[in-house]
Amino acid sequence: MFVRFWGTRGSIPKPGPSTLRYGGNTSCVEVRPADGSHIIIDAGTGIRKLGKEMMQGAFGEGRGAAHLLVSHTHWDHIQGLPFFAPVYQKGNKFFVYARQRDDTHLRAVFASQTDSPYFPVPFENVQADVSFRELVDSARFDIGDVKVSCTRLNHPWIAIAYRLDCDGASVAYVTDTAPFRDILIEQEFIRQPPKPGDPLKPEDAAKLREMREGVVRLCEGADLVIYDTQFTPEEYLSKPHWGHSCPEDAIEIARAAGAKGVVLFHHAPERTDDQIDALLDYHRKETKDLELVAAAEGMELTLGSQR
Ligand SMILES: [Zn+2]
Ligand SMILES: [Zn+2]
Repeated sequence: MFVRFWGTRGSIPKPGPSTLRYGGNTSCVEVRPADGSHIIIDAGTGIRKLGKEMMQGAFGEGRGAAHLLVSHTHWDHIQGLPFFAPVYQKGNKFFVYARQRDDTHLRAVFASQTDSPYFPVPFENVQADVSFRELVDSARFDIGDVKVSCTRLNHPWIAIAYRLDCDGASVAYVTDTAPFRDILIEQEFIRQPPKPGDPLKPEDAAKLREMREGVVRLCEGADLVIYDTQFTPEEYLSKPHWGHSCPEDAIEIARAAGAKGVVLFHHAPERTDDQIDALLDYHRKETKDLELVAAAEGMELTLGSQR
């Protein structure tokens, strides 16, 4: 399968001279397995350019079908969707997957993004056939020859991670998440976070342990683990409740899972290209047992057998 990065940034787009190499668009990763399925993970602003490319082929003629796996519906993971040209072309088919909410159906979550006064074109103007599939935390399903599995993450209002197995290869997409040790984040924004290292309530510790086991299992033996590494350890100390990790956490999970490679992903808006180079250099010296790369817009990786 081919894996292509269209958006690598977290929180908000960060165009400009300091992000030219790793990219300024928010989260969007395309996966193309050998069976011809078209899978997109997250619809941050990076999806706009992918949409333009898709319109050059079957999607421009209304004959395309694609599956969009959404980690969670925070802006940086869905904001490109209203600018994704293939959804305005009649005949195209989209299947959108995201975690089920208690209060709002997925369709309403996506439709409200373009409600007046926030956007000029209401969701009813979408011409493609878009169906929504709500997922539970541990969902497993197939897309063509691809086996997809999910597990929940430690993030405000909860995100889910995906693993895709196909063509004798596997890729895990694990964003957004805090580490599984200092704070349990559920359906709330915690105003007063505990200090990292403070003792946890036993029931919270048990939930975090279970969550970590789920993530390690999801990444087990994976060729590639794309992981939220928004923070440096210093930044994490003051913002453990924001729900993001450090490269150290990604490496620790990948080692526990026996994964082969880690992609640093969801770069902080303020992180410059040179700082990402430095982070990568530092961690490569300490991490000889894993292939380590930083996600860059336009980066393409081939795993297992090819198309
Ligand atoms: Zn995010
Ligand atoms: Zn988020």
